[in-house]
Amino acid sequence: MCASQNPRNSIKNRLLAALPPEEYERLLPYMELVSLDFKQILYAPNEPIQYVYFPNSGVGSLLSLVESGDAVEVGTVGNEGMVGLPVFLGANSIPGEAIQQIPGEGMRMGADVFQREVTPGSPLYRLLQLYTQALFNLIAQSSACNRLHSIEQRFCRWMLMTRDRVGADQFPLTQEFLAQMLGVRRASVSEVAATIARAGFISYKYGKMTLLDTEGLESTSCECYAIVKREFERLLGGNSAFS
Ligand SMILES: [Zn+2]
Repeated sequence: MCASQNPRNSIKNRLLAALPPEEYERLLPYMELVSLDFKQILYAPNEPIQYVYFPNSGVGSLLSLVESGDAVEVGTVGNEGMVGLPVFLGANSIPGEAIQQIPGEGMRMGADVFQREVTPGSPLYRLLQLYTQALFNLIAQSSACNRLHSIEQRFCRWMLMTRDRVGADQFPLTQEFLAQMLGVRRASVSEVAATIARAGFISYKYGKMTLLDTEGLESTSCECYAIVKREFERLLGGNSAFS
C-alpha cells in the first residue's frame, strides 16, 4: 500500500499514530470521534473522570484552582498527548480541572474501558509512561518559568507552544484564558499583549490570536520553550509520529 493510501496517515493524535497498526485497530472500536468545544469540561475537580481524550486538534488546558475561584493553567494538551492521565495512573479523580481552551476534535474512550484495555506493558501503556514524564517536565518547567521569567517571556513561550499543538499561526483565544495561562490579572494581559503586538510579533483582535513573527517570539521567549519541546522529542521521538 502506498503511503498516500494508508489510512493511518489520517490519524491526527500523535500517541495513537505511534501505535503499531494492529494495536490501533484493536483499540479503535472502543473510541469515538467527538468534538471538543470551547470551554467544554473534560474532567471536573474531585469528580469521577468519565473519559480520556486523545485530541486530534485544539488545545486542552489543565488548571489548578484556589478557593477564590481563580484558576491557573499548569499544562496544556494537544494532539501530542492525552487528557486524563489520572486514569492512566490509577486515580479516578483529582483536585484540578481540564477544560477545552481552543476548540477541536478528538478520540474519546471511557475511563473504565481504558483501564481494562490499556494494560501494563501494552504499546499504549508504554507510550503513556513516556508521555507522563514529558508532561511532568512541562509542568515542572512551567513552575520554574512562572517564578523566574517575565510575563513577556512566558507570553511568547505559551504562543509558540500553542502554535505547535494547534499546527497553525492563528487560533481563537480569550483574555480570560490568557490571564489563566500567565497567572496574572486581565489588565496585565492586555498590557503585555499590546507590548508584543507593538514589536510586530503578534496581532490580537476580536479574540483571535495571529502569530506574525515566530522568530521574534522565539528570541523573546525564555529557554523553557526549547527545553520542554526537546524533552518531548527526546522521550517520544523514537516513535515515528513524534520525530
Ligand atoms: Zn521560562
